[in-house]
Amino acid sequence: MERGSALLTDRSALNTIRACYQCAKCTSGCPVAALDPGYNPRRFLRLAAIGEEEAVLRDGKLWYCLACFTCQERCPEEARPAEVLLALKNLACERGFAPAALLAAARLVAADGRLYNIDEFHNEYREDEGLPALDEETGILGKLLALTGLQGRLEG
Ligand code: SF4
Ligand code: SF4
Repeated sequence: MERGSALLTDRSALNTIRACYQCAKCTSGCPVAALDPGYNPRRFLRLAAIGEEEAVLRDGKLWYCLACFTCQERCPEEARPAEVLLALKNLACERGFAPAALLAAARLVAADGRLYNIDEFHNEYREDEGLPALDEETGILGKLLALTGLQGRLEG
């Protein structure tokens, strides 16, 4: 079974999606929806509930979610919308619908824990700003991420 599907099933997210009764408390409290009226987590859950999940996976706005969990705090029905959206993002990655720019950034972080290499130039700039120098070698985060196999999954 695909990992995203497993996540949806293992965490009973599909059952919780069915618990959603479309009250819209998630959307009305969502900070992203406040800025972009076209972003609607309630609609994503509805589409997933009626078997139209591919429409969600193909929708670039799925990636606008900040995973702040405000919707999950507000949901009166334990539909766990924030977890559902995370699971849908995993599924979108597996099916090749993740935005290329996000994947590129994720690959850089997975490679060495940073979005860009730290070199003398960066450390001189940091010194000018009164900040401590950073290690130019791969950070501990990169080494930890390497142990997770994330890079292989991103390439896969
Ligand atoms: S996920 Fe929860 S808050 Fe959002 S519409 Fe469904 S029941 Fe309401
Ligand atoms: S977790 Fe995502 S959908 Fe939920 S309130 Fe935060 S930004 Fe909105």
